[in-house]
Amino acid sequence: MVLVGYLTVRRKNYKRYLSKDSRPYAFELTLVKRRAKLRTMAGREDSPSKIIDKETAFQRIFALRKAIEYHNSRYYQKDAPEISDAEYDRLMKELQDLESRYPDDELALSPTRRVGAAPLSKFASFTHLEPMLSLANAFDAEGIRDFDSRVRRLAKIERVEYVTEPKLDGLAVNLIYENGRFRRGATRGDGAVGEDVSQNLKTIVSLPLKMNNGASLPVPELIEVRGEVYMEKEPFEKLNRRRAEEGEAPFANPRNAAAGSLRQLDPKITARRPLNIFFYGVGAAGNAAFADHWEILEALAAWGFTVNPLVRKVPDIDACIAYFEEIGSIRSGLAYDIDGVVLKVNSLEIQNILGSVSRSPRWALACKFPAEQAVTVIRDIIVQVGRSGTLTPVAVMEPVNVGGAVVSRATLHNEDEILKKDIRIGDTVLIQRAGDVIPEVISVLAGKRTGGEKEFRMPRACPECGSEVVRQANEAAHRCVNLSCPAQLKEHIRHFSSRGAMDIEGLGEKLSAQLFDAKLIADPADLYFLTKEQLLGLDRQAEKSAENLLNAIGRSRAPALDKFIFALGIRHVGERTARLLAEHFGNLDALRSADCEELTAISEIGPEIAQSILEFFAEAKNRTVLEKFQRAGLSPRALPPPVQAGLRGKSFVFTGSLESMGRNEARTVVESLGGIVHSSVTGKTSYVVAGSDPGLKLEKARKQNITVISEEEFLTMAGRPIHRLA
Ligand SMILES: [Zn+2]
Repeated sequence: MVLVGYLTVRRKNYKRYLSKDSRPYAFELTLVKRRAKLRTMAGREDSPSKIIDKETAFQRIFALRKAIEYHNSRYYQKDAPEISDAEYDRLMKELQDLESRYPDDELALSPTRRVGAAPLSKFASFTHLEPMLSLANAFDAEGIRDFDSRVRRLAKIERVEYVTEPKLDGLAVNLIYENGRFRRGATRGDGAVGEDVSQNLKTIVSLPLKMNNGASLPVPELIEVRGEVYMEKEPFEKLNRRRAEEGEAPFANPRNAAAGSLRQLDPKITARRPLNIFFYGVGAAGNAAFADHWEILEALAAWGFTVNPLVRKVPDIDACIAYFEEIGSIRSGLAYDIDGVVLKVNSLEIQNILGSVSRSPRWALACKFPAEQAVTVIRDIIVQVGRSGTLTPVAVMEPVNVGGAVVSRATLHNEDEILKKDIRIGDTVLIQRAGDVIPEVISVLAGKRTGGEKEFRMPRACPECGSEVVRQANEAAHRCVNLSCPAQLKEHIRHFSSRGAMDIEGLGEKLSAQLFDAKLIADPADLYFLTKEQLLGLDRQAEKSAENLLNAIGRSRAPALDKFIFALGIRHVGERTARLLAEHFGNLDALRSADCEELTAISEIGPEIAQSILEFFAEAKNRTVLEKFQRAGLSPRALPPPVQAGLRGKSFVFTGSLESMGRNEARTVVESLGGIVHSSVTGKTSYVVAGSDPGLKLEKARKQNITVISEEEFLTMAGRPIHRLA
């Protein structure tokens, strides 16, 4: 892969970052700027060997931690380091020595512990206390004005104050701080449930492990803080060069690099990646009270969270549009990728009035910049066969850099599209890429034609199985008619095991194809009948990896109903529709026996989707597969009924420690659903939730005949069923 000229060279000075990245850990420093301030911060100059009593050791440990976090912040957040890396290393070394001899309660939050957690085998799932919403989009000034008109109409006001910020092309995360201490953090996931990546987040040195006290607003007992993890452009380029040298595939863009790094099972690898984070908001805010969004940002900054310096408070929509244009004009000079700006109504009162619709707040808007374009040459047009048998023509192009990512393929959608644009093999074309989407060919530069270009025709036979290819009267797509087409089946199995579906770790595209080609599986249900002996018969399958795969398959035997419905690969049934169906029907049998009327009665499900669901369950082959799933002991878990203030009037007492959350978090969960938490058991207590090592309260509850429930039962009651790992 051509990496030279991978990115436009930015004029900023990133030497610091670049040299750091080649070293083992992210907190190693390189700039040399000595100052004696350190000594005053770290206290006395005693060498560790001289410290004899425990108390002195703890004082020294405390001072060192404070000093190191101070220097981290000088270096990573303020960009103004005060000590050399040698001095910094010395402090770290001393702290590590002392901590190994005098471990204390605060060890987990020590700067030495940002790295060092053991690799995981899989991420646990994490239910956000407050869902992470997605934003509605606008693409121009007109769309922005429409948004403002709607806001003014709904809120019945003349002029709206907004807060504007650049929209980073990174990865949204949600962090929980309890009493000012970082407790856990997760990726956004589907907005309701993400992946617990706490260990990896801790390696990001600009992420505070402890919130600053002494800001005008006290540190709340519990707060969810939202941020965007990203990678700057230059360190990204450097990382890719190193990967190329080491024979690893480069990342397509900084966003993918950041996402891949944050979703590393080994935190030591994450620590080596130059990740950074900006904070932009809060979720469940516990007892913190804010008047407007700007105040939230100010509080976050005072508590030690880095807020993007380009954030502005503006008086009206004209200023928003000016901001959108201004940021657009400086975009390429920024150290990081952005794909637009975000507007938020400043007043939280008005935000409340506006509310949300279908998981998007009506008080915020993502204004996207126009897509980026580039010119390249089409070398070939190939045809891919998808899960539903659709043949998709794909242009294979000279690799070209579009908006920071090297691309070599573009979708051509279907034959009509190719004819309409008159795209030929050998043509020079203008391509466009917006965000993460696969690039598109916009137009052919006909003036560059030499006469040697070749026209493309859709093949009459499926390139995978040779079966007939047909085109339905009212469809643009060509399809392979063979229901047993290996390309379709392979794609089907790959979809089934993918992350949004059954999430079978280790069963990627290659392995599913290998299993299929070896005739070990013909459909997804066959996965559950695989044996270790069969797997060991495959090429490059070792004992350990075979075991891991079987374990991963085993773990997927009790999937959430919505994931299972999505995994079935019913045409037009994406993740969201699958969730709606799961919520409505509660189990698979009810869905199977539903008729068109019942299906279309669900909002968002139209006749086309309903038809496709009916056809799926009517198909004999699918019925056979479903029976096989049953024989394999697969039992999808029903979703708990959606709860809205579902615990109203109920009082809870907790005893023992909970596995999935702290007490404060549990209190927030109960209160958000209208319930109350008491500290002691009385005759009025509705439930006693018993965690591990429950105390006397449990006995008392039993004596008074009060219902005792487990943590799991509590979570189900609260609509947050635990997704337990095997
Ligand atoms: Zn075929």
